[in-house]
Amino acid sequence: AVDKEKINSVAKIKVVVRKRPLNKKELAKNEEDIIETASNSLVVHETKLKVDLTEYMEKHEFVFDAVLNEEVSNDEVYRETVEPIVPIIFQRTKATCFAYGQTGSGKTYTMKPLPLKASRDILRLMHHTYRNQGFHLFVSFFEIYGGKLFDLLSDRKKLCMREDGKQQVCIVGLQEYRVSDVETIKELIEKGSATRSTGTTGANEESSRSHAILQLAIKRSVDGNESKPPRLVGKLSFIDLAGSERGADTTDNDKQTRMEGAEINKSLLALKECIRALDNDQGHIPFRGSKLTEVLRDSFMGNSRTVMISCISPSSGSCEHTLNTLRYADRVK
Ligand code: ADP
Ligand code: MG
Repeated sequence: AVDKEKINSVAKIKVVVRKRPLNKKELAKNEEDIIETASNSLVVHETKLKVDLTEYMEKHEFVFDAVLNEEVSNDEVYRETVEPIVPIIFQRTKATCFAYGQTGSGKTYTMKPLPLKASRDILRLMHHTYRNQGFHLFVSFFEIYGGKLFDLLSDRKKLCMREDGKQQVCIVGLQEYRVSDVETIKELIEKGSATRSTGTTGANEESSRSHAILQLAIKRSVDGNESKPPRLVGKLSFIDLAGSERGADTTDNDKQTRMEGAEINKSLLALKECIRALDNDQGHIPFRGSKLTEVLRDSFMGNSRTVMISCISPSSGSCEHTLNTLRYADRVK
């Protein structure tokens, strides 16, 4: 039986903002930290120009479930975002954690350690609380680039998506590794991350145009029978989204860039609509909008949980992108 009380103790949607420190490049350009944070709110101090070119300040205040400042460690990010979700994955729940923000805002820095920390806790639960109950942990890692799927644990093999009759999403050919120790998971994450960031041209540029999706699936042997394929119990997805500014590349001179920009724009808009629909308990969830939301379809159905981590740069030079990110997060919460 499913522990409803346990599930209901976790908010359906949680929106957290993470501000990174100013980096060397920003400091060298004398850019200033324009983000003032409190525990669950922040103020952006925007410098604007009047017609006569004199400067004035405009303040923008936002409130979220939590605001994590530049001193917050990755461990604390985990505790605030994913840790509370882990136990309910054993209660037939699907949960998704997104990192949203412009390129360079800290999405990968924030996202990469989370699946490892989560698997450590999942394995601990499997070896203690759920000892000898036939649970297994599976890992897969793929990316969506230009609306197409590629396996990051299988040399970027191209993948296809199919829907079965029960509205479960099936990614044909996706490598799923059964793992029982943290070390193996660590190796898989490293391998997938390296495959993603090197891309086809070897430029870091590429990762900003793709969504990377790492999934931890908990499955259980049917009637204790290890020879039959185990059934899915719950799933935890970690999504390092494409750079949010890339969605604006729709007027670029290069046709390829333009098409990719349009696809990213479409997927980030569709994602926002799906999360909003979740919160309103609407019957209809607009998955069909993009590949990203179609792939996540089953994670948006039924009793699911979503955590959005919006990553922002503190610098005055990123003010416009930061405001866009915060407005997006504001619409989701
Ligand atoms: P994105 O994935 O959004 O493009 P990254 O995660 O690659 O951005 O971060 C850009 C740079 O900033 C990296 O060098 C990263 O190590 C650094 N960085 C990001 N967030 C933090 C943080 N909270 N503390 C320290 N360094 C950070
Ligand atoms: Mg990145």
